[in-house]
Amino acid sequence: MALLEVKGLKTYFETQEGEVHAVDGVDFSLGEGESLGLAGESGCGKTTAALSIMRLLPYNGRIVDGSIRYMGYDLTGMPENQIRGIRWRHISIIFQGAMNALNPVKRVGGQIAEPIILHEKVDSEAAQKRVGDLLELVGIHRDRARDYPHEFSGGMRQRVMIAMALACNPRIVIADEPVTALDVMIQGQILDLLERLKRELGLSMILISHDLSVMAETCDSMAIMYAGKIVESGGVRDVFKRANHPYTKDLIAAFPDIEGEQRLPAFIPGLLPSLVDPPAGCRFHPRCKFARPECETTDPALETVGDGHRSACHINRWMEEGTWTSSREGGPP
Ligand code: SF4
Repeated sequence: MALLEVKGLKTYFETQEGEVHAVDGVDFSLGEGESLGLAGESGCGKTTAALSIMRLLPYNGRIVDGSIRYMGYDLTGMPENQIRGIRWRHISIIFQGAMNALNPVKRVGGQIAEPIILHEKVDSEAAQKRVGDLLELVGIHRDRARDYPHEFSGGMRQRVMIAMALACNPRIVIADEPVTALDVMIQGQILDLLERLKRELGLSMILISHDLSVMAETCDSMAIMYAGKIVESGGVRDVFKRANHPYTKDLIAAFPDIEGEQRLPAFIPGLLPSLVDPPAGCRFHPRCKFARPECETTDPALETVGDGHRSACHINRWMEEGTWTSSREGGPP
């Protein structure tokens, strides 16, 4: 049994413009000690999926369908007092941009101690000892618990946020864009730290990023999201080496390849569609250079294209039927 299993998840937001279908039927699972990457452009539903798991949606958001099972227990209908026992102690999150969210007038040690005192019911002395241990775990001297956030660099503040996420010994950590605001050297150090913590503490991890190179370094498997749906998923190597979906290929081409041939990153023409009134059929069709009329009416299902590798694109069926000629049409594979 997977540690976390998300099935058919739909999370919508009520807005003045209408109902936003931010996550619209998403399946994924996470095993013990595994790391899963959720990738895609900003606004494709990655963070909403994470907030749904944490049951921390804003007031206008709600889970309308599907299940989120943690150790077999469905979190979607769990009462708030029970969810509080899961949040931070079993599943914790490093919020996007959180390193700027530390309280500037409180010492970092006190901020890390808060969830420990609240959830672990320990006294202040035991909490301070744990704070020191956590700081050392993330590579900060324990004496720096007395310092204020402005006395830390951006990378060090992110280490503090990671220490806070680990405060109650969770089994799953969700890291939402953990290195986005950092320079490249520091990004590498933070990703190495997450990788080491995952290994040493036996953590399971969901890493959310728009940057696929982050996934390549840290994840076992990945799912590519587009406009609220998963369009491709599989082992990291398979998705990178044998990308199947045109959107995944465009996303990979949009990042510089530091190991392969020198080329300029490509850009993906067009914009993400409105999730109030998403396009019928394949949601990627207005931007897809391979779209045929069928793509405008029929939503392709996720189909197996390799060992544990799935993709949602009609081209795979057209190829089986012999109606797709890649040499003529210039497309995949
Ligand atoms: Fe493009 Fe059609 Fe495949 Fe969608 S189903 S990705 S529009 S070819």
